[in-house]
Amino acid sequence: MALELKSIFLVPSLSHNRRRRHRLQSLLIAPWALVVFAMAPALVNAAAPPVGVRIGGVKTVFTGDVINGKKVVSSLNTDDLEPGRKHLLYFQGVQMATGQYWYVSVIVAKGIRPGKRLTLTSGVHGDEMSSVHTVQTIMGRLNPAEMTGTVMAVLDIARPAIESMQRRWPSSGRGLELTDMNREWPGNEQGLGAASRQAGLVFQRLLKPNTDLAIDFHTGTTGLDAAAFHIGDMGIPEVKTMMMLYPVPMIWDNPVYPGVLHNAYIKAGIPCFTPEIGAARHLDLEVIPLFVEGTMNVLKHYGVVPGPIGRTAVDANVLISQNVVTVVSTRGGFIEWLVKMGDNVTAGQKLAIQRNAFGEVLAQYTSPVQGRIAGLRSDATTEPGNVLMFILSTSGSTSSAVPYAE
Ligand SMILES: [Zn+2]
Repeated sequence: MALELKSIFLVPSLSHNRRRRHRLQSLLIAPWALVVFAMAPALVNAAAPPVGVRIGGVKTVFTGDVINGKKVVSSLNTDDLEPGRKHLLYFQGVQMATGQYWYVSVIVAKGIRPGKRLTLTSGVHGDEMSSVHTVQTIMGRLNPAEMTGTVMAVLDIARPAIESMQRRWPSSGRGLELTDMNREWPGNEQGLGAASRQAGLVFQRLLKPNTDLAIDFHTGTTGLDAAAFHIGDMGIPEVKTMMMLYPVPMIWDNPVYPGVLHNAYIKAGIPCFTPEIGAARHLDLEVIPLFVEGTMNVLKHYGVVPGPIGRTAVDANVLISQNVVTVVSTRGGFIEWLVKMGDNVTAGQKLAIQRNAFGEVLAQYTSPVQGRIAGLRSDATTEPGNVLMFILSTSGSTSSAVPYAE
């Protein structure tokens, strides 16, 4: 049975890329070098901004609530926090239908000296547990007493999606709707729908004002596993530098969709990319350490934490490609894989056999390109039109739909 490919080209034109990079580079020279040392919390709400506050900075606002022993903020300026320690806070997100709030867990490791401010996010999709665990592990390794700079972790951004272990945000505007929050950034505090408002609150009051460099961690999704790889634009120097500091074997050199969080950061002049940490739903303990090591390398590279750089992309024999090719199911039925995640495949290589409930063969799938398998359907059944696989292609200028990534 012939293989079916979708051919939706999502890569912006080169001229668009050049304009965007030029704008990014011009934004990167903003005078963000100065850092203010801690203010007492009682002074935080003073009318005048503190001397030396960064452009775009916001005031820290404590709501006065304390939940599980953590103070609640509705906006945060990490300059206001005491240096040399970790701060565990709840950020007050969008309101629920009951009038309560979706609170988001925030950890700030504030170094003893000012320096780069890195922000690590996870849980933009609710079934991506390894993203949360990776950020937890990194934060657990930080000792603010020896840090120069600040690392902020925002762990569970799409709270209602996480509560129900599903990718999308469940909202009740017109009956239950599921919204992919990673198509909503930078969001809108006055937007139509809770996911857009949550994104707007988190981005404007928490992420953007406190970030020089950002990493938004993801995994595969329910039913479709991912390998260990990065999504990011190698044309942005700081993004390239960060991605190459990971011992991760694949980089998809592509900005992907406009509404993803890493592109909202980039539009704001903040370099960011998206690591993909293996399979969804469970903790992918074989893959997580690669991303912990890589992120610690990033922090060492920028002088935030001391120590030698560990293994990098060179050690992982990284494959970098701008092209991903998806293999889409042409029939409904049961899929038997003949290959596994991370395999190198050649054009024409047989990938899978599909059967109906009688066991009769309905379809066979072959690879349209040479490349490496970066995504693989984990559910044994498939409907027509489901993504079976995506391949990081080394065949040249091929490209195709990207219905799953990040
Ligand atoms: Zn995701």
